[in-house]
Amino acid sequence: MEMKCSCGKQMKEKELSLRGFTVKGFECACGQKAYNPIEVEMVRKMVNESVKARTVANSLVVTVPAALAKLAGIKAGDELKWRMDRKHLVLETC
Ligand SMILES: [Zn+2]
Repeated sequence: MEMKCSCGKQMKEKELSLRGFTVKGFECACGQKAYNPIEVEMVRKMVNESVKARTVANSLVVTVPAALAKLAGIKAGDELKWRMDRKHLVLETC
């Protein structure tokens, strides 16, 4: 797949970062970026989606929507770690 930048140069396929997610796209030497619109839409949906914490035994349980899991590249059985980033609780892949 090839993509031309508005500056006239050929853009290179690259994994771009969008709100912390890795999204497929293109980047030009001039700095112009083009994101895959389908993946951008997925990220947009995911960051707007909220999940409710439930109580199971004495723990709080939150679910990761399937589309978000796919986007984040996590699946059942994966090892994940929690970390606090200022006031944000961050779930990291190991
Ligand atoms: Zn360019």
